[in-house]
Amino acid sequence: MGQTAVSIGANVFQFFTRNPRGGAAKPLDKADVKAFLAYAGEHGIGPILAHAPYTLNAAAAEPRIREFAESVFIDDLKRLEHTPGALYNFHPGSHVGQGVEKGVELISDLLLGVFDAARPRETTVLLETMAGKGSEVGRTFEEIRAIIDAVESRLPPAANCRLGVCLDTCHVWDGGYDIVNDLDGVVAKFDGVIGLDRLKAIHTNDSMNVLGAHKDRHEKIGKGKIGLEAFRRIVNHPKLRELPFYLETPCDLQGYKEEIALLKGLVK
Ligand code: FE
Ligand code: FE
Ligand code: ZN
Repeated sequence: MGQTAVSIGANVFQFFTRNPRGGAAKPLDKADVKAFLAYAGEHGIGPILAHAPYTLNAAAAEPRIREFAESVFIDDLKRLEHTPGALYNFHPGSHVGQGVEKGVELISDLLLGVFDAARPRETTVLLETMAGKGSEVGRTFEEIRAIIDAVESRLPPAANCRLGVCLDTCHVWDGGYDIVNDLDGVVAKFDGVIGLDRLKAIHTNDSMNVLGAHKDRHEKIGKGKIGLEAFRRIVNHPKLRELPFYLETPCDLQGYKEEIALLKGLVK
């Protein structure tokens, strides 16, 4: 994966820890991990972002589904300890009609259980900002804040586990945050509610839908309703520009190569 990233001009990358729809991960190959770490050091590859499977729903009503989420989460975090400095991103979950409050409770309970079992020292767990499709939790900055508070107020001080946030440009736009006409306002809002020190990664996606659509359909950079000029402001924003940016646009490898060049060209 490191070589692929370098071949398209990337210095960070995101990957799925296993099939995005769920299932077992390949056994950890220690020699492969070692080779990757050496290669990443040599080529200046920044934080790798591991994405949990989409099927992981920490807020599910059915205990069986939450247990699956917990076991995947623990397994992933244990693996990631071998690549220090990695980020682990997950969709907080869908409350499936139980209500946001119950969703927040289930998600924070699961995180506490996961932290207790996996004791991650090297990895920062990121809550992804969501578009608010269906019953997704994390559609507002306040919901993300509520999860962080519910976890950290109950985390034993010695646990030393880190929780951060990954901001997805398509999701916040679809969620109703106007990053096109009021980027400064959205960044200030994020800072006020969550705190910019929590922001560890940006998912860089245009959107097929209008502001507040709550749809979550990613578009290629500059081809959607967010548009290229907004991305110019995003990649140059003083509070965002030093963060790692990860593309999740509907592209093949060549397409990603072109988008990376396009975004690099916007940087002042
Ligand atoms: Fe995601
Ligand atoms: Fe995303
Ligand atoms: Zn999405």
